[in-house]
Amino acid sequence: MIHTHILGFPRIGAQRELKFALEAHWRGELDRPALEAIGRDLRARHWALQRDAGLDCVSVGDFAFYDHVAGHIQLLGCEPPRFGFSGREDELERHFTLARGVGHPALEMTKWFDTNYHYLVPEFLPETRFRLASGRLFAEVAEARALGHRVKVTLLGPLSFLWLGKERGGQPFDRLALLEHLLPVYGQILQRLKAEGAEWVQVDEPILGLDLPGPWRAAFEAAYIALASAGARLMLATYFSPLADQLQLACRLPVDGLHIDAVRAPDEVLRVADWLPAHKQLSVGIIDGRNIWRCDPDRALATLKPLRERRDTLWLAPSCSLLHVPVSLAGEAGAHSGIDSELSHWLAFATEKLDELALLKRALTDGEDSVRNELAIARQHLADRRASPRVSNPAVAARLRSLGPDADRRAAPFPQRQARQRARFGLPPLPTTTIGSFPQTREIRATRAAHKRGEIGGGAYQAAMEAEITLAVRKQEALGLDVLVHGEAERNDMVEYFGERLDGYAFSANGWVQSYGSRCVKPPIIFGDVSRPRPMTVAWTCFAQSLTPRPMKGMLTGPVTLLQWSFVRDDQPRADTALQIALAIRDEVADLEQAGIGIIQIDEPAIREGLPLRRAGWRDYLAWASRAFRIAASAVGDDTQIHTHMCYSEFNDILPEIAAMDADVITIETSRSGMELLGAFGEFRYPNEIGPGVYDIHSPRVPDTGEMVALLHKARRVIPAINLWVNPDCGLKTRGWPETEAALRNMVAAAQEVRRQV
Ligand code: GLN
Ligand code: ZN
Repeated sequence: MIHTHILGFPRIGAQRELKFALEAHWRGELDRPALEAIGRDLRARHWALQRDAGLDCVSVGDFAFYDHVAGHIQLLGCEPPRFGFSGREDELERHFTLARGVGHPALEMTKWFDTNYHYLVPEFLPETRFRLASGRLFAEVAEARALGHRVKVTLLGPLSFLWLGKERGGQPFDRLALLEHLLPVYGQILQRLKAEGAEWVQVDEPILGLDLPGPWRAAFEAAYIALASAGARLMLATYFSPLADQLQLACRLPVDGLHIDAVRAPDEVLRVADWLPAHKQLSVGIIDGRNIWRCDPDRALATLKPLRERRDTLWLAPSCSLLHVPVSLAGEAGAHSGIDSELSHWLAFATEKLDELALLKRALTDGEDSVRNELAIARQHLADRRASPRVSNPAVAARLRSLGPDADRRAAPFPQRQARQRARFGLPPLPTTTIGSFPQTREIRATRAAHKRGEIGGGAYQAAMEAEITLAVRKQEALGLDVLVHGEAERNDMVEYFGERLDGYAFSANGWVQSYGSRCVKPPIIFGDVSRPRPMTVAWTCFAQSLTPRPMKGMLTGPVTLLQWSFVRDDQPRADTALQIALAIRDEVADLEQAGIGIIQIDEPAIREGLPLRRAGWRDYLAWASRAFRIAASAVGDDTQIHTHMCYSEFNDILPEIAAMDADVITIETSRSGMELLGAFGEFRYPNEIGPGVYDIHSPRVPDTGEMVALLHKARRVIPAINLWVNPDCGLKTRGWPETEAALRNMVAAAQEVRRQV
């Protein structure tokens, strides 16, 4: 027998209904019942899609108004006491308070494993206790049952829940110790779910795909023995990463089924099929839940058929929740979509993936002949994709092959370059600069949008952007900054701007994916060999440089970030795609240099988040990622200064690789840690120049000069003054001009004060 299900569906809605409802609610324009009604409609619609596609059960518990982890915190009654809830506040309003602060600092937000979804981080104190504190999940089960659905509930597992949280409070303690208090509440939840008609409970334990410390690994067995007694049928769900040394553990736990990610860990499928006792269900995550490509049914069937022979029942599913892909290709039919009909045949968003599951089920149940036509169509589209001249560009392949062994090396080592650059630019010690963007005012955004809609012609648009650049340059000169930027007024987004100008990229009209709460992103789709038909930033940068004798820093997005924040093709290794993008950026760098731009920044904020979930994959990733950066950066003379920027500073464990990128200057975010995180750079004796951010750009607060002087002194203790730059933590696009000017004025004053002492 073949059983189909999904691990979760996107909740934002095909038209981002949830986003707009939430924002209207927060503005006070949509009342609570109306918001609840929209949530209910979305759930009903998504369940209907699952049923209509022929899935054997619908997924309940994957909905959340803001975040499913915050919902889980509420279910378990462990909202942090610092919020001071009396217990009488409405549950949904508390959900929003946890998420958005409102009078308290909100819960911290961080990336859900290696995805671009951000969850709210549970906070644990030694005295944290749990209780079943919300009826929402049960109400949703009743809702689905009333609509006639067979229900499988998804529930974040106890160990992953604790793992994803943070310890708070003065005394150090181990949050794993809270497990004994947590398990009884899970037991109650499972009992009640069973009593209320949930046929299965999918317990998500994605941390089984991480390198776990011994005590965490050891805790699984006892925890699941405890949960087994609750009587509900449990499907343990793992995803995102190979189980590796935890494979046998996962197979052994006393649950009724195990889901594995056959996309990320194809090599483990047969081993799991052998290890998993016959009485347990095996759910194979065969459809890629992290990417948007049409599934190759022949490949999928080749994986599934041997399993079919080994087991009576096989469950088929996407590899993980479909939260990470857009809702439906139906939204791409209009003229605004960059996904033309040919390209759309190569793709499958969440809704289309449901049909792919149904097709595989029928092929396995009734034989491939029963779905002859559907298979023929899929094969045709896949063959078209493989053969399409839009996908392969022989010139790109030839160029990659012809890259010499020195293509990723600057001509001279850093000390020589540093001397040449000093002589060329004559900057003062502790030079001041910014990270690239200046305030994106409402007018700038309106002008860009009008231009995109065709309401403002090319000439008028250019004039408007040049006026913004001029304004930014004049302000920077007046502030006395040393290295200027043009301000990025023409960029909507640091990936989209470049993607739109590169061949091999496409942009959907509605391919939104939830990033957090009401925030969605629309990742570009890299479908073919990437190349740069023409310069992308040279004209704007040269215009900016023409306004001032001070050095103007060119501003580019690096290959790893352009890769990481896109849907990436699955028909060649990510490393190859990164190298192709690197070549395109390399050309841009060369053109900027040729045009007289002597300082060029290549932003790589996504380097760290690209790290594989398991350490075993780190070296390989870091090797190709840093090589891609160097390929982009190395085609310049010794006296051209390459900067890079990363929005983190937690590089402790990968500093050798960061240093190996060999940027002349790296700017990083350090102010919120009070320069603490810079220490590692000092200990490592980071060889090149560094600009540790001296102020947090995430808030409108204007830091005073003394504060930044103090930070600079701290920085000087770990980094030689001759290698130090002075800059904010990140770009200023989300800020307004008044606070930006005030903060930069104080920053320049701080630099001047410290200079007098070096
Ligand atoms: N140059 C970009 C900016 O200033 C960098 C943004 C980022 O690091 N995410 O906006
Ligand atoms: Zn940044």
